[in-house]
Amino acid sequence: MSRLPEDYIAAEHRLGAHNYKPLDVVLTKGEGVWLWDVEGRRYLDCLSAYSAVNQGHCHPRIRDAMIEQAGKLTLTSRAFHNDQLALLYEDLSALTGAHKILPMNSGAEAVETAVKAVRKWGYEVKGVPAGKAEIIVCANNFHGRTLGIVGFSTDPTARAGFGPFAPGFKVVPFGDYAALEAAVTDNTVAFLAEPIQGEAGILIPPKGYFRKARELCTARNITMILDEIQTGLGRTGRLLAEEHEGVEADVTLVGKALSGGFYPVSAVLSNSEVLGVLKPGEHGSTFGGNPLACAVARMALKVLVDEGMIENAETKGAYFREGLGEIRSNAVREVRGRGLMIAVELHPEAGGARAYCEALRDEGILAKDTHDHTIRIAPPLVLTRDDVDWALERFDKVLTRGA
Ligand SMILES: *Cc1c(COP(=O)(O)O)cnc(C)c1O
Repeated sequence: MSRLPEDYIAAEHRLGAHNYKPLDVVLTKGEGVWLWDVEGRRYLDCLSAYSAVNQGHCHPRIRDAMIEQAGKLTLTSRAFHNDQLALLYEDLSALTGAHKILPMNSGAEAVETAVKAVRKWGYEVKGVPAGKAEIIVCANNFHGRTLGIVGFSTDPTARAGFGPFAPGFKVVPFGDYAALEAAVTDNTVAFLAEPIQGEAGILIPPKGYFRKARELCTARNITMILDEIQTGLGRTGRLLAEEHEGVEADVTLVGKALSGGFYPVSAVLSNSEVLGVLKPGEHGSTFGGNPLACAVARMALKVLVDEGMIENAETKGAYFREGLGEIRSNAVREVRGRGLMIAVELHPEAGGARAYCEALRDEGILAKDTHDHTIRIAPPLVLTRDDVDWALERFDKVLTRGA
């Protein structure tokens, strides 16, 4: 007996913690940009699991690499070497220019790792007095859900009720260079930011912001950490979003699409001596750098490059944004984005974005609202021009009719 969608939803509701409020659709199969629900309805995925599935669902080459490695060796822990980790290091280094790499699993773990490393670097290399290290972060940041990270979030929903939090973080408005400059002290060890704030609603900083921030960090011996867990690996039409700004971070965090959605794999990529301060035993992860993760990540990176997905994000993103911009709708306030990281911001009077996402679902498009008034559109990077045309017809219908 197959279950009905409402049966799955009711069982989740009864047994699971209610820390998410998913759209009511129960998915069972994915291929490329498409998803199918348990009743056989097809949807265009416009979220890509928050950009973890940039390579498209169940990419056959990544799947094959995973199956092959799963039949050989999956986990050794870092107590021993395995024959996949060095290869992932070489591939990541060749692709990004990173000199030192530390593999973890979730994105939040990569962020925590960078925070730990940069504090230690501050004490041992920069000479900050013990316990005084400061890290500058941006308002409306999203860097994950661990206690350390939500402690420097400015989102009341992410923080409230979870304190006390660790000190040592200073919050400045995103995109405001003067505020960043004013927040720097001799004890500042790092500036941590997203190149484009994704969860905050696809917010792009003013031109030149990151270039000036880069100069400031260099002048004051501050480690620039860019969280590219969402913006990285092709999403914005470049391998890393920092390329749009013409800057190079000292430490870059990648995750999500590093596995093409098969498996949690993240990494800290370091250009400076920051990761060099970690000695044996001072940091680690049972699963970080395991051979299965490494084999999957290597193929996820390979298909991204081989199959032209980064360039496709650029061209299809521009085409998609142009088409969205031509839709005549009183509801739409602004269409913005880079590559296939797109936001449709609605007028507050239009009613919430959630209602629009439900209407889009009924038309066969799965998109996600963020911060009440913004529809986020981030399809897999294998989207074709025909797929965009198909999507635009449906966006046009929903946005002109109203939710
Ligand atoms: C998703 C995300 C994270 C956290 O990654 P998890 O794998 O969910 O822990 C961190 N930073 C950014 C920018 C993200 O989008």
